[in-house]
Amino acid sequence: MQVIEAIAKSEKPILSLEITPPNKGTSIDELYRSMDELIAFNPSFINVTYHQAQVVYEERGEIIYRVPKRKKPGTVGICASISNRYSVHTIPHFICGGFSQYETEDALIDLHYLGIKNILALRGDAHNRESTFIPHRNGHSFASGLVKQIANMNKGMYLENLDEPVPTNFCIGVAGYPEKHFESPNREKDLEHLKFKVDQGAHYIMTQMFFDFKYYKSFVESAREAGITVPIIPGIKPIASTRQLTAIPRIFHINIPNRIVKDMESARTPEAVCKAATKHLVEMCEKLIDFGVPGLHLYTMGRGRATRELLKALGL
Ligand code: FAD
Repeated sequence: MQVIEAIAKSEKPILSLEITPPNKGTSIDELYRSMDELIAFNPSFINVTYHQAQVVYEERGEIIYRVPKRKKPGTVGICASISNRYSVHTIPHFICGGFSQYETEDALIDLHYLGIKNILALRGDAHNRESTFIPHRNGHSFASGLVKQIANMNKGMYLENLDEPVPTNFCIGVAGYPEKHFESPNREKDLEHLKFKVDQGAHYIMTQMFFDFKYYKSFVESAREAGITVPIIPGIKPIASTRQLTAIPRIFHINIPNRIVKDMESARTPEAVCKAATKHLVEMCEKLIDFGVPGLHLYTMGRGRATRELLKALGL
């Protein structure tokens, strides 16, 4: 099932959950344990993140080697195993970083053979040793290029001329930033680039996490004014610890309103901290549902407690 089909058929907002693959060398069992509990909430889709390889330099004897290390490989494998085990549709995240267009094409063919119908197409962040994003020399500089490549394959246009090529049938999602992408000089420019991604063939937008309804509302209104008509699914991050109050803004370049910070900081126990955060997120999700959102996307990252509390409180 494609995301846009699910949205069109559903009378209420669809639910999707985002998980990350386990660290290299660790068992998948912990992921299964948290999925066993989350699957009870009947998500329509499970998104699986993709992690770019980071480069480290290793000295062996007198020679220094440049070694690419991917901490969390296995996105496509996790998609296949989760969809097999739980009979749920999975959505792999695909990034431009580190891949030539030829490698991307081969990976898309794998997904097509696996029967995967949705992809979230992203650029990815800069490498750990670089201050700005540097694309592969035969790769895409922006997510819009990746979207175009997938949209072309949906029309049967591969990178080489083939006799009677079979078209793929991917529903393409892209990222949107209610508080603007941190590299963008302003919101208008960021929206212009978002519109270009949609014009290249994206079918829906999934947003970066935000903690105030006003950001989503104003983002959707500006997107509609800019001529973007595709569904915009809000991204919600269930939080459970005060450490996240500083880590999340630093990593994701977003704001957490003071009323949430105050309530979480004044809670006395870990349970009370989680409860305080959940109360605010429930209020925000209720506003989103009243606003008519096409879905709710929860960044669970494989740790389920805060997500379970939020879903229970929402009655989903
Ligand atoms: P783009 O759309 O290419 O935009 C990147 C920047 O370039 C923006 O500032 C944009 O305004 C600008 N820009 C776009 N086009 C142009 C142009 N033609 N000229 C000049 N500037 C332009 N990262 C991962 O590594 N793995 C994941 O699994 C992952 N999942 C994510 C899921 C969601 C829902 C979101 C919101 C983000 C996710 N990310 C993930 C992070 C994402 O890769 C980063 O935020 C990255 O910095 C930007 O990716 P993008 O696809 O938005 O890039």
